[in-house]
Amino acid sequence: MRGLLVVVAGPSGAGKGTIVRRVLERDPRLHFSVSMTTRPPRAGEVDGRDYHFVDRAEFLRVRDAGGFLEWFEVYGDLKGTPRAAVERELASGHDVLLEVDVQGAMAIKRQFPDALLIFVKPPSREEQRRRFLERHRGDPDFDPAAFERRLAAADEEEHLAEQFDAVVVNDDLDRAVREVAAIITGRRSQRSS
Ligand code: ADP
Repeated sequence: MRGLLVVVAGPSGAGKGTIVRRVLERDPRLHFSVSMTTRPPRAGEVDGRDYHFVDRAEFLRVRDAGGFLEWFEVYGDLKGTPRAAVERELASGHDVLLEVDVQGAMAIKRQFPDALLIFVKPPSREEQRRRFLERHRGDPDFDPAAFERRLAAADEEEHLAEQFDAVVVNDDLDRAVREVAAIITGRRSQRSS
């Protein structure tokens, strides 16, 4: 059987990255799809594990060859989901987990109607702001105006949550991780029955 494609999306600061890391640790059947980005690595990030770090010319080359399932520009940096690796894993029966923004999830749903879309929602806008600032504290390229625009966009994005298969509120992290894991398990058993 073809692998299951799981897409975790939500506004920045919702806690997607944190949840995804924990879900991957507890579910060895999930293969993480590593995104490509033109932004420089942050401390502790490893090329090929966290992202494929490339320059702009390389990114545009892949994009123009149709090599991304979705891509977008944020803070002047480009980010995209390479198509080939995802298709290869699914074809060989492996389940793939992708972490993208809300628009990216909608783009992937159009190409993979059977994908399982999970929307991670912050408990409140204030808490989202607090977590986002916590994560980006000290980023040399942090742009407060762009940050405010992204928070405003989050309101818009939440309307799209209704097009997802499930919505998980990330208040208590352990609970949110268990919920995401259970949603994935539930879909697997549906598919195999
Ligand atoms: P995203 O990937 O959605 O932008 P992150 O996973 O980077 O969000 O989380 C943003 C910040 O919030 C990080 O500093 C992370 O440690 C923190 N965080 C994530 N989930 C929770 C939670 N349930 N409770 C408290 N802090 C959290």
